[in-house]
Amino acid sequence: MSKIDLLRDGHNRRIRDVRVSVTDRCNFRCQYCMPAEGLPWLERDAVLSFEEIERLVAVLATMGVHDIRLTGGEPLVRRDFPRLAAMLAAVPGVQDLSVTTNGFLLERDAEALVAAGINRFNVSVDSLQRDRFFEMTRRDALPRVLRGLEKLATFPDAHPIKINAVGMKGFTETEILPMAEFARTHPYEVRFIEFMPLDADHSWDRSKVLSGEEIRAAIDAVYPLEAEPREPSATARVYRFADGHGKIGFINPVSEPFCGDCDRIRITAEGKLRTCLFSLHEYDLRVPLRDGASDEQLRETIRNAVWKKELKHHVNDPGFVQPSRTMSQIGG
Ligand code: SAM
Ligand code: SF4
Repeated sequence: MSKIDLLRDGHNRRIRDVRVSVTDRCNFRCQYCMPAEGLPWLERDAVLSFEEIERLVAVLATMGVHDIRLTGGEPLVRRDFPRLAAMLAAVPGVQDLSVTTNGFLLERDAEALVAAGINRFNVSVDSLQRDRFFEMTRRDALPRVLRGLEKLATFPDAHPIKINAVGMKGFTETEILPMAEFARTHPYEVRFIEFMPLDADHSWDRSKVLSGEEIRAAIDAVYPLEAEPREPSATARVYRFADGHGKIGFINPVSEPFCGDCDRIRITAEGKLRTCLFSLHEYDLRVPLRDGASDEQLRETIRNAVWKKELKHHVNDPGFVQPSRTMSQIGG
């Protein structure tokens, strides 16, 4: 390990975190992510096997990439997903293994995932009203997701549990206070994420982004908030309720980009390395993996790609080009 250089990009940012998409498939059709009719799924043999994912994670861990977040698509729809989680938890050098899920299958899988070694969970919930949840996800699944969350909360090792809600103008305004109240009365930290141009319909427009600051101000007016110290390279600005009842966070990639501190890369379900959510280029790792590349050859490919990691995203610049992939195809 000591002879292997830590992974750095050309702007001298250390890469510590990888988001691994384990499937492009999903059982929801969230408006900001997928079209109502779904997307053409990858062929099964195009998707990395568990062993291939394990190998990449092991190679990355030797380069100092210690934090692994499993995502998708919906990771829990991948058959035998808890077995993959257990394989990755056992990889030398992996320090933090987390999952982002829509929660639909959590009631079934929470116990197996905690036992496998997942130590942090993010569950996406955009509304606490059944009809509005249906409107956003195009699935009438709120009661089931809430049952999944309750099940998860029974495991002490699963905490802290974070709830992610995307902030969209014209939808989220009515959800803000119920979400804040949910955070105050449950052992979950709610985090609002600004809507980003990664939707399948390419209907994103700045005017549809409900900024974190607008949401924060609306909450603060009713339940005063106090800022928590910001941790280095943390994407969320976290606030505690001044009366001590819980926390709430804001991830503001559009209004307050945090690219300068970015320490992450992504691997898609078919093994493409992406150095930014908004990358227009990606680097294939599946072919070298399947052609028998050595660990050092894989490291070389990864190093060269990461060296060219984008300095920042250009969402706020004229001429911004939205990637052709959606969030579900990248791995959010
Ligand atoms: N299916 C899982 C889920 O929904 O949690 C994991 C994958 S999903 C792509 C990961 C996260 O990306 C979710 O929290 C989702 O809300 C968020 N997301 C998807 N599309 C987005 C967009 N256009 N802007 C901001 N966040 C988005
Ligand atoms: Fe599926 Fe997650 Fe995208 Fe919703 S945000 S469609 S749950 S991948």
